[in-house]
Amino acid sequence: GPRSRELLETQRQIDSSAVAYPEDIPVAFEEGKGATVRDPDGNTYIDLFAGIGVLNVGHSNPYVLEAVHEQADKLVHTIDFPTEARLDLIERLNEIAPPGLKDQNRFVFGGPTGSDAIEAAIKLAKYNSGGDGLIAFRGAYHGTSSGAMSITGNKKLKSNYTPLLADVVHAPYPSPTQQGKPPQEAVDHALEEVKAILEDPYGGLANPAGMIVEPIQGEGGIVTPPEGFLQGLRDLATDNDIPLVFDEIQSGFGRTGEWWASEWYDVTPDAMTTAKALGGVGFPLSGLMYHEDLDTWGSGDHAGTYRGHVVAMRAGVRAIEYIQDHDLLAHARQLGEEIRSRFAEIADSNDAIAEIRGKGLFIGVEFTDENGQPDDETVDAIQTDCFEHGVLVWKAGPHGNVLRLVPPLVLTEELADTAMTIIADAIDRQAA
Ligand code: PMP
Repeated sequence: GPRSRELLETQRQIDSSAVAYPEDIPVAFEEGKGATVRDPDGNTYIDLFAGIGVLNVGHSNPYVLEAVHEQADKLVHTIDFPTEARLDLIERLNEIAPPGLKDQNRFVFGGPTGSDAIEAAIKLAKYNSGGDGLIAFRGAYHGTSSGAMSITGNKKLKSNYTPLLADVVHAPYPSPTQQGKPPQEAVDHALEEVKAILEDPYGGLANPAGMIVEPIQGEGGIVTPPEGFLQGLRDLATDNDIPLVFDEIQSGFGRTGEWWASEWYDVTPDAMTTAKALGGVGFPLSGLMYHEDLDTWGSGDHAGTYRGHVVAMRAGVRAIEYIQDHDLLAHARQLGEEIRSRFAEIADSNDAIAEIRGKGLFIGVEFTDENGQPDDETVDAIQTDCFEHGVLVWKAGPHGNVLRLVPPLVLTEELADTAMTIIADAIDRQAA
């Protein structure tokens, strides 16, 4: 609409050229409710993007906002002084911690962003192991700060900012489609590489500090590793006495239909990052859950100003309650399956779809051209077409050729059905 166009034009003039906004899609936001947003021209969109998987309980969830208003009227910031909200949130996180961490869990607030939690994870690993080398994975995304960029497995995002952390080695992440290998072979290959990095006396890391991995890669293209990979990493971390850290910033907090993606694989990390949906309705808040054996820091060893956002903490507590009270994990599992089977139906008659991936409402659909090469142009065109017809979808993958759906977990069957009809039509038009 005209008002959206105007705002976008102004943004282009005064905002940074670095804003991540798809070219040529004039949609501004004015109001969000549940899984929909309205632009200033009065058009409504079904939001399957949700601020990159942040709004798990929906835009402006009223149950969360009620507590937000109450808390904001009373107290907003304390740094590390105790508050009810802080302790409530840590206790709730302990309740929903994966089996191997439950009852032995500690939580340290990272700060506002996921990148902060990643920095905390790197520090925790180094502090406890005494090492300095980190194992990360190709295609991984961990954030924008220097440590997080160092372990991100995407050259384009970091090549202009070197030197970064020196001793980081990237191992392959087993993605059968990307590597053209059968799943078991992809897993064996990745684990052999990790083992060599850790144990080969003629290569690899001199002083390993830890291993950081997304249990399901997000920016990398919603890549669900085959069975055996995460367990293999678990065993190698234990054998080499270094912490295994899962980055659950995008995959966690109910996204996959379990609280944490690691639960799909029955593998427990020593530490795991959380952010994005943790702040309830989009308040910036992140942290690191870790096994109490790693709680060796002295007072003040890991500190920072924005560790006391009481409103965000209160929002996080309410978001956990809301997900529990409305059985949204089961809903996410079921609706995710339905959406994936709709894509499977589309793929039956459309060769452009190479693979449909994900768990729960963490969904990726990979597109390739007639030569089997990544086809980002088609995904761009599908995204624009969807926007024009009232559905917000996003992209992922190192080649941008994965259509990414990370909708609010409150997305209804009815809205999902409408959205899928629009997406199917867009694919028909753009990937004929
Ligand atoms: N880790 C993962 C897995 C992520 O998806 C992201 C954000 N997309 C981050 C870390 C960084 O979080 P933030 O953008 O809040 O710094």
